Amino acid sequence: MRLKDKVSIITGSASGIGEATAIKFAAEGAKVVVCDVNQAGVDQVVAALVAGGADAVGFVVDVTKPDTIAAMVAAVKEKYNRIDVLVNNAGITQDAQLFKMTEDQFDRVIDINLKGVYNCTKAVVDTMIAQNSGVILNASSVVGVYGNFGQTNYAATKFGVIGFVKTWAKELGKKGIRANAVCPGFVATPMVKAMPEKVLQGMEEKVPMRRLAQPSEIASVYAFLASDEASYINGAAIEVTGGLTL
Ligand code: NAD
Repeated sequence: MRLKDKVSIITGSASGIGEATAIKFAAEGAKVVVCDVNQAGVDQVVAALVAGGADAVGFVVDVTKPDTIAAMVAAVKEKYNRIDVLVNNAGITQDAQLFKMTEDQFDRVIDINLKGVYNCTKAVVDTMIAQNSGVILNASSVVGVYGNFGQTNYAATKFGVIGFVKTWAKELGKKGIRANAVCPGFVATPMVKAMPEKVLQGMEEKVPMRRLAQPSEIASVYAFLASDEASYINGAAIEVTGGLTL
């Protein structure tokens, strides 16, 4: 129960790593706020958490639309009167090599993966400052450290959210708020599982552990970073790759 009663907003929590993080946080005693553009997914995750005895609520939020974020934050504050943790997990890919990338592909990924993180953090930061406590966690990627073929837009966002936490660590540390990023390698989420078998096999061979991460293995790192056990970790970008980058 390392997160007992911590009010935790997890964006993009209808699927994949976000869903696994919601499940892990609930198991650690958090009050979990599930939010996503996918209404059916939100309803399903919240129903499962509540059936398991957790205190969980759901909101349809588009991280590119500040009015939907503001409505959620207002409702969360009304219900719980505080916000302890924000996990900025929502993200997409729209891959193409630079010479083929369209402006729409570039803008869409920047809007969700980078500006969406700014939008959500901006919406909760005053509450965390008033409490003199809070944890902000951003979903980066190994691509945010090393770049990747065909991912000009995605790489920019994943480098960018590391820039955010290093800046916020400096700005907000004295206000009792920690900010960190998590950089997963390959994770077996619905998005990745949908890739052709040949690509998946190629992926596994690149990893010293010869397998993809399970979403729960990334969720565990978020739970640790959100907990008081990580009380002196601030401005870090933690690689969780099974050794992929060695
Ligand atoms: P996923 O596609 O399974 O889940 C992403 C969720 O974000 C979905 O439920 C989707 O509906 C939601 N979402 C998309 N746009 C949104 C918006 N505008 N507003 C709110 N929610 C929105 O993906 P995943 O693999 O679980 O990835 C989660 C995060 O982890 C992403 O930021 C991704 O970049 C990052 N990541 C994933 C991997 C991997 O291998 N899967 C590796 C490194 C980093």
